Amino acid sequence: MPFTPRCLDSIRAEAAEFANERDWEQFHSPRNLLLAVVSEVGELAEVVRWSGDREPAITDANRQDWEDELADVFILLVRLADRSGVDLTAAFARKLQKAREKYPIDQFKGSARKAGR
Ligand SMILES: [Mg+2]
Repeated sequence: MPFTPRCLDSIRAEAAEFANERDWEQFHSPRNLLLAVVSEVGELAEVVRWSGDREPAITDANRQDWEDELADVFILLVRLADRSGVDLTAAFARKLQKAREKYPIDQFKGSARKAGR
Protein backbone atom coordinates (compact mmCIF):
# COMPACT_ATOMS: atom_id res chain seq x y z
CA MET A 1 0.00 0.00 0.00
CA PRO A 2 1.53 3.35 -0.97
CA PHE A 3 2.03 5.83 1.84
CA THR A 4 0.90 9.40 1.79
CA PRO A 5 3.98 11.26 0.55
CA ARG A 6 5.75 12.96 3.42
CA CYS A 7 9.35 13.83 4.22
CA LEU A 8 10.68 11.75 7.12
CA ASP A 9 12.50 14.77 8.52
CA SER A 10 9.26 16.73 8.72
CA ILE A 11 7.79 13.81 10.69
CA ARG A 12 10.86 13.90 12.99
CA ALA A 13 10.43 17.64 13.48
CA GLU A 14 6.70 17.34 14.19
CA ALA A 15 7.25 14.57 16.75
CA ALA A 16 10.00 16.66 18.41
CA GLU A 17 7.71 19.68 18.50
CA PHE A 18 4.97 17.60 20.12
CA ALA A 19 7.39 16.49 22.85
CA ASN A 20 8.89 19.97 23.30
CA GLU A 21 5.50 21.61 23.69
CA ARG A 22 4.81 19.25 26.59
CA ASP A 23 8.30 19.51 28.11
CA TRP A 24 8.72 15.79 27.57
CA GLU A 25 12.28 16.00 26.23
CA GLN A 26 13.42 15.40 29.81
CA PHE A 27 11.82 11.95 29.68
CA HIS A 28 12.89 11.05 26.15
CA SER A 29 16.28 9.55 26.81
CA PRO A 30 17.36 6.89 24.30
CA ARG A 31 16.89 4.24 27.00
CA ASN A 32 13.37 5.35 27.84
CA LEU A 33 12.42 5.63 24.19
CA LEU A 34 13.80 2.17 23.43
CA LEU A 35 11.71 0.71 26.25
CA ALA A 36 8.69 2.62 24.93
CA VAL A 37 9.24 1.19 21.43
CA VAL A 38 9.39 -2.33 22.87
CA SER A 39 6.22 -1.69 24.89
CA GLU A 40 4.39 -0.43 21.83
CA VAL A 41 5.51 -3.45 19.80
CA GLY A 42 3.88 -5.51 22.55
CA GLU A 43 0.66 -3.51 22.15
CA LEU A 44 0.83 -4.12 18.41
CA ALA A 45 1.19 -7.86 18.99
CA GLU A 46 -1.75 -7.73 21.37
CA VAL A 47 -4.02 -6.64 18.51
CA VAL A 48 -3.55 -9.96 16.73
CA ARG A 49 -2.90 -12.12 19.78
CA TRP A 50 -5.15 -15.19 19.90
CA SER A 51 -6.15 -14.79 16.29
CA GLY A 52 -4.43 -18.13 15.73
CA ASP A 53 -3.81 -18.94 12.13
CA ARG A 54 -6.84 -17.01 10.96
CA GLU A 55 -6.02 -15.11 7.81
CA PRO A 56 -6.05 -12.29 7.53
CA ALA A 57 -5.10 -11.50 11.13
CA ILE A 58 -5.88 -7.84 10.41
CA THR A 59 -9.62 -7.45 9.91
CA ASP A 60 -12.10 -4.61 9.69
CA ALA A 61 -12.72 -5.15 13.40
CA ASN A 62 -9.11 -4.58 14.49
CA ARG A 63 -7.68 -2.46 11.66
CA GLN A 64 -7.95 0.86 13.53
CA ASP A 65 -6.18 -0.58 16.59
CA TRP A 66 -3.51 -2.08 14.28
CA GLU A 67 -2.93 1.29 12.60
CA ASP A 68 -2.82 3.14 15.94
CA GLU A 69 -0.27 0.77 17.45
CA LEU A 70 1.87 0.79 14.31
CA ALA A 71 1.84 4.59 14.47
CA ASP A 72 2.88 4.48 18.14
CA VAL A 73 5.86 2.27 17.22
CA PHE A 74 6.75 4.56 14.32
CA ILE A 75 6.52 7.79 16.32
CA LEU A 76 8.65 6.41 19.13
CA LEU A 77 11.17 4.89 16.71
CA VAL A 78 11.54 8.26 15.01
CA ARG A 79 11.97 9.92 18.44
CA LEU A 80 14.54 7.29 19.41
CA ALA A 81 16.56 7.93 16.26
CA ASP A 82 16.35 11.69 16.78
CA ARG A 83 17.32 11.61 20.45
CA SER A 84 20.19 9.20 19.85
CA GLY A 85 21.66 11.19 16.98
CA VAL A 86 20.75 8.83 14.15
CA ASP A 87 19.80 10.12 10.72
CA LEU A 88 17.18 7.44 10.16
CA THR A 89 16.80 8.13 6.44
CA ALA A 90 20.55 7.72 5.92
CA ALA A 91 20.69 4.65 8.18
CA PHE A 92 17.83 3.10 6.20
CA ALA A 93 19.62 3.65 2.90
CA ARG A 94 22.92 2.31 4.25
CA LYS A 95 21.31 -0.77 5.82
CA LEU A 96 19.25 -1.59 2.73
CA GLN A 97 22.39 -1.40 0.61
CA LYS A 98 24.14 -3.78 3.02
CA ALA A 99 21.18 -6.16 2.72
CA ARG A 100 21.36 -5.99 -1.10
CA GLU A 101 25.00 -7.02 -0.93
CA LYS A 102 24.40 -9.72 1.69
CA TYR A 103 21.41 -11.24 -0.12
CA PRO A 104 22.06 -11.08 -3.87
CA ILE A 105 18.90 -11.66 -5.88
CA ASP A 106 20.40 -14.49 -7.90
CA GLN A 107 21.13 -16.46 -4.71
CA PHE A 108 18.20 -15.57 -2.48
CA LYS A 109 15.16 -14.94 -4.67
CA GLY A 110 12.25 -16.96 -3.29
CA SER A 111 14.41 -18.43 -0.53
CA ALA A 112 13.84 -17.95 3.21
CA ARG A 113 17.36 -19.13 4.04
CA LYS A 114 19.72 -16.57 5.45
CA ALA A 115 23.31 -16.05 4.48
CA GLY A 116 25.77 -17.70 6.82
CA ARG A 117 23.54 -20.59 7.87
MG1 LIG B 1 0.00 2.11 21.94
